[in-house]
This record gives sequence, C-alpha cells and structure tokens, in this order.
Amino acid sequence: MVQYQKVTVAGGGVLGSQIAYQTAFKGFNVIVYDINNDAVNQAKDRITKLKDRYQKDLNATQAQVDAAFNRMDFQSDLKQAVSEADLVIEAIPEVIDIKNEFYQELGQVAPDNTIFVTNTSTLLPSQFADVTGRPEKFLALHFANEIWLNNTAEIMKHEHTDEQVFEDIVEFAKQIGMIALPLHKEQPGYILNSLLVPLLDAAQDLFIKGVADPQTIDKTWMAATGAPKGPFAILDVVGINTAYHIVKQKAAKTGDQNAAKLAELLKTEYIDMNKLGTATGEGFYKY
Ligand code: NAD
Repeated sequence: MVQYQKVTVAGGGVLGSQIAYQTAFKGFNVIVYDINNDAVNQAKDRITKLKDRYQKDLNATQAQVDAAFNRMDFQSDLKQAVSEADLVIEAIPEVIDIKNEFYQELGQVAPDNTIFVTNTSTLLPSQFADVTGRPEKFLALHFANEIWLNNTAEIMKHEHTDEQVFEDIVEFAKQIGMIALPLHKEQPGYILNSLLVPLLDAAQDLFIKGVADPQTIDKTWMAATGAPKGPFAILDVVGINTAYHIVKQKAAKTGDQNAAKLAELLKTEYIDMNKLGTATGEGFYKY
C-alpha cells in the first residue's frame, strides 16, 4: 500500500476547494493550483469560509481548522505546483478542451511516478487517458458537493488503469474520511447518478402526465422503501434550475412533449416565483 505524502489539487473552485481542505484536514500536505493570482485568491477565500463550516457542522476546534489551513499552499505555476506531488486531483471546469489542454501540460511537467485522478461528473476517464501520457496511473475519483457531510467517493478505473493504483486510491479515499465506493468498470454517471437520474426522471414523468402530485409520489417512495426523502424532495436539494436545464435540453433534443410541458411548468410556477428549492426556502416543499 502506498501512502501519499503530497497532494496537489488542480482547480480551487467549488469542489476543488472542498477536496483540498478535506485532504489537509485529514493531515496531508496540499497544494492548490489555479490558473492565476486572482483565481488563487478566490480559492483562498472559499477555503477560509470552509473553516467556519467545519467548526459548525463537525464541531472542529479552532486549532484543528487552523492546522488544516496551515498544511496548504497555493500556486499558479503548474510545474512548481506538482514538482513533488504523489497525487494530483483534477477539479477544473467540465469542459473537454480545457481538461485536454491541462492533462497535456500536466503529463509533461509532473514527475513520472505521480498519479492523476479526475473529479469529472459527466465525462469518462478513458477520454483523457492517452493525453495524460500515463493511462495506467490515471482514473476517476469523484466527490459530492459538501464533501465533509456528503462523504461519498466513487473511484472508477478505465480499461488501462493499473489495479494497484486503483486500490491505492480506494485506500486514499478512506484516509481522507470518505466512504470509498469502487467501480471496476467505466459507467457514465457512476453508481449514484445511474440510480438517481432514472428515479428523478420517472417521478417527473408521473407528475407531468397528471398521474399523481409530487407529495403523493414522494409518500409512495418513502413509505414503500423506507427512504428518508422522495424524488421531489431530492429535486429541491439539487435545485429547480438544474432540473429545468436538464428537462429543457431533453425537450429540445428529443421533441418530447411532456418534457417541454414540464420545462414550461418549472419555469413559470417555480423559477419565476423564486421557488428554486431548499436554496430559496421553497420548491416543491416549503423549508
Ligand atoms: P468551478 O467552476 O467552481 O471551479 C473550477 C476551477 O478551475 C476554478 O477555480 C477555475 O479558476 C479553475 N480552472 C479553470 N481552468 C483551469 C485550468 N486550466 N487549470 C487549473 N484550474 C483551472 O467548478 P466545480 O463545480 O468545482 O467543478 C470542477 C470539476 O468537479 C468538474 O469536473 C465537475 O464536473 C466536478 N464536480 C463538480 C461538482 C459540483 O457539485 N460542483 C460535484 C462533483 C464533481
């Protein structure tokens, strides 16, 4: 088993800042890399705010949150950011060209033994495996938003990922406090979205067809399976804006009339009324 000492997180945005801070909180030395000084300063601000959340949500002490922050460094030069890295966790924008260009450069400047993982939500690691120049040392390590609370880590290899590297990343995920969820084959959407997306789609379909209202649909799911939330309560957490964009794209792509009707309803009766879900205190439910 390999114990990584130095971890670099590339991209200090929403997820990158969380991954970096969680990793430092668990005792690793972490460098956050972002494209320029402005982006680095924004990452620092995000991470500083996380200190409060760790104190509030996890009862972490001031000394603990400060010690974690002190284990972090910030860099806008990629070569320096990765010169001693055992592991690089990539959390840069979900844009193929940006990721391709990043991996091309990273593959050239990182030491030969450095492992690369991607936090991509919707792309597959095989798409970037060749451009990294080290396909056997590359795989996906996918976190959820608010990782200190929603601590799942889906670890997904592609066809050419080395088995030992895969197992080492499973171990690393546990070391940083995650529930490690290994996927032995590539799967778009990993495990969670492969289960969740069809459930949410089916629930919205029942609603828009007029079969049952959201509360009845949720009640059915909860009472029958023992789940704490139904699909519409989950949609409130995901956010009505996100649900709207997905269903609107589906309507445009497939010409599905029900999808178009649902998009219109989400826009006029929810988004325009500022009912965006838990974020605004009301969506399908009031909070
Ligand atoms: P974000 O837009 O909040 O952050 C992206 C960061 O990358 C920014 O700080 C930006 O300055 C930086 N960046 C841009 N180009 C870069 C480059 N070439 N090199 C280094 N840094 C660069 O995005 P996010 O929501 O944190 O998403 C990042 C990745 O994490 C995506 O692949 C996304 O699919 C995945 N993800 C996001 C979530 C989520 O809930 N937001 C959940 C799981 C996974």
